[in-house]
Amino acid sequence: MYQHIQEEAYQANMQLPKLGLVLFTFGNVSAADRSKGVFAIKPSGVPYEKLSPADMVIVDFDGNTVEGKMRPSSDTKTHAVLYKHWEKIGGIVHTHSSYATAWAQAQRDIPIMGTTHADYNTVDIPCAPPMDDEMIKGNYEYQTGFQIMDHFAKKGMSYEEVEMVLVGNHAPFTWGKNADKAVHNSAVLEEVARMALFALQINPSAPRLKDSLIRKHYERKHGAGAYYGQN
Ligand SMILES: [Zn+2]
Repeated sequence: MYQHIQEEAYQANMQLPKLGLVLFTFGNVSAADRSKGVFAIKPSGVPYEKLSPADMVIVDFDGNTVEGKMRPSSDTKTHAVLYKHWEKIGGIVHTHSSYATAWAQAQRDIPIMGTTHADYNTVDIPCAPPMDDEMIKGNYEYQTGFQIMDHFAKKGMSYEEVEMVLVGNHAPFTWGKNADKAVHNSAVLEEVARMALFALQINPSAPRLKDSLIRKHYERKHGAGAYYGQN
């Protein structure tokens, strides 16, 4: 009944170590089936090489386990909150990939410095503030979801346009129409974070990408007259 999302979540999770985005058991990907109101997510603390599709735990959008023998990822409630409120998301990734996490720890938005960034976003990649003590003491992982959504609301950003965020002092979350796209975004974010760091090291006063280039690169991939790729 849930095999399709278990398989999708499994394949997507297995991409994380291959792409160099995770160490040990760090990181988690989920894949949603909106018609059934559930998602499949990696079990907590199981090494990637020991995972199988059937190990993916099925959870509803309130964070309750629907099916599965193992405990789901400790970040499951963050995924549940985002699925529940952002209704067009089909996959979510959380990693502690080094470069994106370095920016999160520095509590800095990743400035749009180049066209790689502009191929995906027209704005700096947002860094939500660190969670306050009440949120940390309470239902921490659940509140992490709200920290992300509140920050998007405050910035007037759309989750459909910006599919990535840093949580201050913590690490990145990315999402997309499915788990595969969410993993793709996670790898792009890591690369953009790395490039921005090096650019600012080479020249700390390097300017942001100018508007004409931002628009050119974003529009040729995502605009009405997009001509990037083969369709
Ligand atoms: Zn984390």
